[in-house]
Amino acid sequence: AERPPVDVDALATGVREGSRSLLARAITLVESNRPDHRAAAQELLLALLPHSGGAARVGISGVPGVGKSTFIESLGTRLTGAGHRVAVLAVDPSSTRTRGSILGDKTRMAKLAVDENAFVRPSPSAGTLGGVARATRETIVLMEAAGYDAVLVETVGVGQSEVTVAGMVDTFLLLTIARTGDQLQGIKKGILELADVVAVNKADGSHERDAKVAARELAGALRMMTPTHETWRPPVLACSGRTGAGMDEVWAAVQEHRATLDADGALGRRRADQQVEWMWAMVRDQLMDRLQAAAKDTIGELESDVRGGDLTPTLAAARLLDTLGLPPNP
Ligand code: GDP
Repeated sequence: AERPPVDVDALATGVREGSRSLLARAITLVESNRPDHRAAAQELLLALLPHSGGAARVGISGVPGVGKSTFIESLGTRLTGAGHRVAVLAVDPSSTRTRGSILGDKTRMAKLAVDENAFVRPSPSAGTLGGVARATRETIVLMEAAGYDAVLVETVGVGQSEVTVAGMVDTFLLLTIARTGDQLQGIKKGILELADVVAVNKADGSHERDAKVAARELAGALRMMTPTHETWRPPVLACSGRTGAGMDEVWAAVQEHRATLDADGALGRRRADQQVEWMWAMVRDQLMDRLQAAAKDTIGELESDVRGGDLTPTLAAARLLDTLGLPPNP
């Protein structure tokens, strides 16, 4: 059936005027993989780009069960209570596999989900991490154009998705729970290195003491690592999403981190670098997609020839690139 073309101007105006329904429609548009939607989405983003950039973009990561949704619900309601407009997005590439996303699920943030100054959007199910990341980055532009001044991007503490989220935010906040001594090994070094602020969560009741001890130990471990920015030492704080203890201090640290970057122009550079890195990520993803589509009938055979030692990897790579009409490197 003939579908009506997308009215990009009406969407752009609606988003800027703060219409929730048009904002939701704009997000659905940027999440779509249909070629005509992709074209309309890019037109929309180009129109909104001059009105974006106004939010504190914060990544929030931690393993399942660390208390992310409780924390975001608590932080988010504090922020809206203080007059902010809060967007909660999620990057969860596993949501396509498990059917139905876990992160950003509105039932996990019941108060924020009905808060008129908050907008909670579950992870898009765009397939690959690259697809999810693209949709989320583009949604950040929409949210900022709509006047949201705090964008919280939630992700799980496993795998590549944290690196991806760190590449789209100003401040990367790692949530962890009390671990000491040997257990510190359980926190992956690569993830700790991404963190601008670390919070030991669930510092309440009988866990409070442990959390504070763990925060001190972790701060010691962090001092051994290369800081994310020369003038910033990632602080380690203790907090409780459940009781709200320490939450103001965590948010103050996030703001202080941004202010520190902003003071010497690093915030603008970080964002500009992220845009360029995003461009290259898109090129890599699309080249691979096209290659896999163009060579789909020969990939299996070439792989088995390489496995069996009948063909060198270099020659096989040249044949694959040839399906896109690309000559091999000399
Ligand atoms: P997520 O999987 O990281 O989103 O974690 P949830 O927010 O769903 O919390 C996982 C479990 O930890 C739930 O049973 C929560 O009730 C509990 N929890 C979350 N935050 C806190 C906290 O600050 N203190 C305590 N004691 N428990 C918490």
